[in-house]
Amino acid sequence: MSDRISEVQSQALEAINNASDLNALQEVRNTYLSKKGLIPALMKEMKDLPKEEKPAFGQKVNVCKQEVSEALDKKQQELEVAATALKLEKEKIDITLPGDSIRIGTSHPLMLIQKEVEDLFLGMGYKIAEGPEVEQDYYNFELANIPQDHPARDMQDTFYIDPNTLLRTHTTAMQMRELEKAHGQTPIKLICPGKVYRRDDDDATHSHQFMQCEGLVVGEHVTLADLKGTLEFLANKMFGEGRQIRFRPSYFPFTEPSVEVDVSCPFCNGKGCNVCKGSGWIEILGAGMVHPHVLEMNGFDPDKCSGFAFGVGLERVAMLKYGINDIRNFYINDARFLKMFDRFD
Ligand SMILES: [Zn+2]
Repeated sequence: MSDRISEVQSQALEAINNASDLNALQEVRNTYLSKKGLIPALMKEMKDLPKEEKPAFGQKVNVCKQEVSEALDKKQQELEVAATALKLEKEKIDITLPGDSIRIGTSHPLMLIQKEVEDLFLGMGYKIAEGPEVEQDYYNFELANIPQDHPARDMQDTFYIDPNTLLRTHTTAMQMRELEKAHGQTPIKLICPGKVYRRDDDDATHSHQFMQCEGLVVGEHVTLADLKGTLEFLANKMFGEGRQIRFRPSYFPFTEPSVEVDVSCPFCNGKGCNVCKGSGWIEILGAGMVHPHVLEMNGFDPDKCSGFAFGVGLERVAMLKYGINDIRNFYINDARFLKMFDRFD
């Protein structure tokens, strides 16, 4: 009888050993340890034995059951570890494979230029002023020394919303708001970048909407030489070292004297090329000393302080800097055009 137990045990251990996966092992467990399994069946045989043999037999069956059970548990653990390893191997992800490329937007070229100009002036201690695009006639014209019936109003064809409200034609309106806010206190040192609007037929060099960045400095003993130094610095930063600037007399109602400012052509170094039409100079901005009347109207004493102002068209700068020949490109949102500027971002 004892041999039967050893036989069942060795068969069970061999079957456990041969089980190749968890299902096969479960079958072995059922065959030997379930209620109707071979080992409980041995236990049932105990009742036919003589009384004195029963304890030894029972003990032996129990040992057999325990060893088979332990072997099953051990094998189960091994198979589970192997199964997990196999699963991990199968689901392995190659993280070196290139991913799907996601199309992302880029900064608009005008925003790039605006940021460049802003950074430049912030570095010189200027503050950035912002104001409404829908503006009052008072700030856009009256305070800027352009009263009703002034011929300069014809220079800027205006989108009127009602007789006193308009889309600002220049960022000068913001300068006027800032001057008024200062209540005669100097110094003032600010730039005002922003969109402006004029009734214009759009073509390669004109747009009914464009961007300006104006600068304003008011304080004691501010001179034309300060203006020239500032603009020279701006030209060198925007168009590369070695740029020279020159002033030509001009007229703006809010500055006296007024000048047009040319920068020496960065493409031919002043020798003459297509871009500068052979002149060696490119017109880049308008500027001047703040008109004493403008200072007065805004509550400043022109005998005690003076100021300079300048205004640059950001499209013009961007067109020169990036070699763009049609201003409409900035406003038609052609992704192919905009995409070209991701390298500057
Ligand atoms: Zn040139």
